[in-house]
Amino acid sequence: MKVYFIGAGPGDPELITVKGQKIIKKADLIIYAGSLVNPAVLDVAKNNSEIYDSAAMTLEEVLEKMEAAIADGKLVARVHTGDPSIYGAIQEQMDALEEKGIDYEVIPGVSSFLATAAALKREYTLPDVSQTVIVTRLEGRTSVPDKEKLHKLAKHNASMAIFLSVHMIEDVVKELAQEYPIKTPVAVVQKASWFDEKKVVGTLETIAAKVKEAEINKTAMVVVGDFLDTEYSKSKLYDKDFSHEYRKSKTGSN
Ligand code: SAH
Repeated sequence: MKVYFIGAGPGDPELITVKGQKIIKKADLIIYAGSLVNPAVLDVAKNNSEIYDSAAMTLEEVLEKMEAAIADGKLVARVHTGDPSIYGAIQEQMDALEEKGIDYEVIPGVSSFLATAAALKREYTLPDVSQTVIVTRLEGRTSVPDKEKLHKLAKHNASMAIFLSVHMIEDVVKELAQEYPIKTPVAVVQKASWFDEKKVVGTLETIAAKVKEAEINKTAMVVVGDFLDTEYSKSKLYDKDFSHEYRKSKTGSN
């Protein structure tokens, strides 16, 4: 038997992968990050599965539960929000399982920064605007390496998705405004893909006030960059003048 780390997706219970849901259906023990995972993703669990919310547990308690279940030949699902590789605190769990000789596997999920782009109907990687997405956060109780301070990353004027920071929106804006032009668009999406999703769109000048007015102070993504509202070049991939591996040029020029 194995421990499966599963990305539950951003909220909408249909945004978990088929593979992740299959494991949840079969799991004997489910430990989920209750502060953010929509409990509706667990509706498919079998009646006799044991379910725990890790919000109230320490790392040691989580590991103890996993170890005992595996020793009993049980299937374990460890459910994280979005994708577990992003601010999921799964490395320490995987390393501990490795040490204990317990087999595990990771099933990825739809991260909330992707659900945010979907909610906004925008593409992060517009040709001639930005071909880079920076995923970051402001320092909280977890520190951020000095080289990655927000104003330093901002130098690139790339598309940026800022996690875990909406409650410090003024600080986010202060850091970004050191490098992005003040008219740069910014959007904030709270609970992307949930039934009570909220969106606000503005610029570096206006966004902080709009976020306060909408009373958004947690579970929200801050995205910044010209990808939100700009002129851009059409992609080469679907350009009739270009051929590539799967399609010949329709005009024969390339
Ligand atoms: N592993 C998760 C992120 C966990 S950190 C993922 O891949 O999405 C928690 C932060 O993620 C929150 O503070 C918020 O910034 C963001 N977040 C999580 N769910 C969200 C959602 N549905 N909409 C917007 N932001 C979300």
